[in-house]
Amino acid sequence: MHGYDYRAAQTVDDAVTLLAAPGARPLAGGTDLIVQLRRAERDAALLVDVKRIPELLDISFDPSDGLSFGAAVACTDIAEHPQIADGYPALADAARLIGGTAIRNRATVGGNLCNAAPSADAIPALVVLDARCIVRGPSGTRSIRAAEFCTGPGTTVLQPGELLVSLRLPPPGTRTGARYLRFIPRGEMDIAVAGAACMIRLEEQGDTIAEARVALASVAPTPLEIPDAAAALIGRPAGEDAFEQAAGAARESARPITDQRGTAALRTHLAGVLVRRALGDALRRARGEQLDA
Ligand SMILES: Cc1cc2nc3c(=O)[nH]c(=O)nc-3n(C[C@H](O)[C@H](O)[C@H](O)COP(=O)(O)OP(=O)(O)OC[C@H]3O[C@@H](n4cnc5c(N)ncnc54)[C@H](O)[C@@H]3O)c2cc1C
Repeated sequence: MHGYDYRAAQTVDDAVTLLAAPGARPLAGGTDLIVQLRRAERDAALLVDVKRIPELLDISFDPSDGLSFGAAVACTDIAEHPQIADGYPALADAARLIGGTAIRNRATVGGNLCNAAPSADAIPALVVLDARCIVRGPSGTRSIRAAEFCTGPGTTVLQPGELLVSLRLPPPGTRTGARYLRFIPRGEMDIAVAGAACMIRLEEQGDTIAEARVALASVAPTPLEIPDAAAALIGRPAGEDAFEQAAGAARESARPITDQRGTAALRTHLAGVLVRRALGDALRRARGEQLDA
């Protein structure tokens, strides 16, 4: 690992100005980037530290506007935030799973998204919660659906010089529940062999599913939204029949590879199992039940 210039940006404008330099890269927690620089998997001439920008460290919740949090908020702060645990528990599920305590204190959800690993735990949760990514760059501000942010392993829609500023999630609906689950061979400090996030909203009366989203990790070059799984749920009574149809759609849509963590066949199987289980938990949350820890 050779030396890099380092600048700590104090404002978003400051960061965008610094990021205009050739070879400049944002640095958040550094839990992906420093490892990649050491292994020469990425290069940089200038690291622009974004962890001192107040706008990137803010968390705000308003019942009619929803949740907004800065791209440099640490996973621990997301996992432990009472209004996130209450209104967006699938996001807290994912933030709580990333690394161990020391990693979670540094690692950010924004960095998890921008690093664009197919196995990233936070991305499927952001997708099913319909998050929008607020990006600032030399040409101004734009907003991108989380589902469309990643374009391949380690690549995103971000253009050179652009900074992810914040993530905005709509207000949590009534009779709505969501869950993120992953499979790893050991208890923690491992990356997902497969992961699944599911969201369902029940109609005002009864158990018919009015709205649903399903997204998977580690079964394709990017975290993957599965519209066919959502279509298998919407308009049907919440329960095992609909959940099995959605699980089937998830298995059909998965395009996994075989690597040292698991075979393509195992990942396809896990996609179905995790979707079925995550839907069961999402239904319990939609009914206002607490899940076991
Ligand atoms: C021991 C260990 C265990 C881990 N376990 C897990 C795990 O269980 N699950 C999991 O999903 N990940 C895991 N990771 C990976 C990593 O911790 C996460 O991806 C983390 O969320 C990345 O956030 P960061 O703030 O450290 O990002 P950084 O490393 O600072 O940045 C990552 C990338 O995003 C870019 N970036 C960061 N912020 C911005 C921004 N605001 N705008 C534009 N680009 C930006 C950087 O330039 C870089 O390319 C683990 C890593 C380690 C070292």
